[in-house]
Order: sequence, then C-alpha cells, then structure tokens
Amino acid sequence: MTDYIGRFAPSPTGPLHFGSLLAALASYLDARHCHGQWLVRIEDLDPPREDPTASAEILRILDAYGLHWDGDIVYQSERGELYQAALDKLRYQGDAFPCACSRKQLGGELHQGVCPPPADHDFAWRFLCPGGATSLHDGLQPDHRYDLADEIGDFVIRRRDGFWSYQLAVVVDDAAQEITHVVRGIDLIDSTVRQYLLQQALSLSIPHYSHIPVAVEQNGQKLSKQNLALPLADAHIGETLWQALHWLRQSPPQTLFGAPADELLNWAVSHWNPAPLKGEQSMPAPGPFQRT
Ligand code: GLU
Repeated sequence: MTDYIGRFAPSPTGPLHFGSLLAALASYLDARHCHGQWLVRIEDLDPPREDPTASAEILRILDAYGLHWDGDIVYQSERGELYQAALDKLRYQGDAFPCACSRKQLGGELHQGVCPPPADHDFAWRFLCPGGATSLHDGLQPDHRYDLADEIGDFVIRRRDGFWSYQLAVVVDDAAQEITHVVRGIDLIDSTVRQYLLQQALSLSIPHYSHIPVAVEQNGQKLSKQNLALPLADAHIGETLWQALHWLRQSPPQTLFGAPADELLNWAVSHWNPAPLKGEQSMPAPGPFQRT
C-alpha cells in the first residue's frame, strides 16, 4: 500500500449509468494502479431528491462490475455532527454568516458580502467568499484562474431547509477519510474552487484533483440521472466494462471483450494511463448507452 487514498462518492438519486461507471472506474483504476485504497462514500444529503432503494442498488452494481472497495461504506446522512463542527468553526472565524436572501432577491446575481441579520429562523448559512483570485491545478484539465468575487461569491454551506450542502460535506469527509486523490467528472470542476476555499478556511489538507471528460449523447447532453440515462444492467458486464475502458482511451485488447470483470480490471489496473484524456471535456458515449 502507498499513501494513496481515492474514493467514489455517488449521490443515491438513482441507479448507476454508463456515465457514473466511468467516474467509478477511473477513480478505481487510478487508486489501484498506485497500489492505493479505494473508498466508497454514499452522499445521501438530500432526501427529497433521493430514491430509498438507490444506495443498495449502487453498491450491488459496483460489486457486480468487480469494483470492490476498501473498508466500510460511509453514509453522509450519519455525519451531521462533523458538518456542524465545521460550520461552528467557520462561524467562530467569521467565515460564515446567516442569510435569508431569496433567489428572487438575488435575481441571478452572486451573493456578495454579509447581508442584514435574518428576522426569524428561516435562513441558510453561507460561506463568506474572500476577494482576489485563485488558480487551481488539475491532473487532466488546464490550470484555471478564478476571480472569486466575479465567479464564485458567497455560497451556501447549510441550506435553508436544514440540509447540509454538498460543498461543505464533501470537504469535511474527504479530509476525515484522508483522501489524497479525487478523480471525478468534469461537471464537478467548478465545485473544486469552492471546496478549495473551504479546505483553506478549515485548515484541511487538499487532495490532488483530476477531472475526466463527461460522456454525452448525440444531442450534446451529458449522460445523467436527470436525463434518464439507462441504468447499468446485470447482463453483459464484460462488454460494458470493455466499452468503458475503450471510452477512457485505455485501448483494451479485443480479446478481452466480454471477459469476466476481474480479468478486465486486472488488465486495466496494470495498464492504466489517464494521459490520453488530458484536456478532453466531453466525448460521445458508445451507441448502446445513448438514448438519442
Ligand atoms: N456526490 C457527487 C455526485 O454524485 C459527487 C461528489 C464528488 O465526487 O465530489 O455528483
């Protein structure tokens, strides 16, 4: 084992599809190629959007596809105390403030600076975004410089309805689980700067990030649960994994098409090389996984 710890962190809003398999597979291969650990964390922070059967189904499919994780599954729904402690620290430092501004009041603008104290208990907590600029490095995408006031603004860390925001929970958990490397889809790349700001404010260590391209349908829409991407099936696992490896530009040998998952993954772990994905933002999903 090296000191590499990676993770896959699905939100249980529906079953895994080809797009989520790509993120799971890339993070798994990167970790295993480096002889690291690979953890799975269920990001069940948003009950109104969740499907109560999805967590168990996601884990069952990961297992069926040979993506076996290390340690126990972590469920964010059980970790409110950790997120509360992080919010308390931010409040104490003056980095968080209560905000009752409605979307309508913001009128599509970013939130800038502390607003009048809310009159009642119906408010969110926001992170007070510092000014200036921050440049972020990514393992696969070009470095990007963010103007914090113009592009980020004060973002929500605890929602008005009482649920924790993804941004706060993800940094608390990545740090608590000692994650060193995050490999995920480019659709989350602009979250990284928010996570970086929180990591700095909370004095947490900062993982190394690599954002892989997203798989898109012919109409350019990303494969996602919102777009009703087809769930991964129990059948043809070796064919689907081969196609996922091919999509990730790993050039799997034709002779492995349809091979048992473990055989395909053994090949892929030893040959893993993400360099051909550098700079790619979106690539078409293979035909069988497109609906359009
Ligand atoms: N839970 C997030 C999602 O399913 C991913 C979180 C992450 O990888 O940082 O989109």
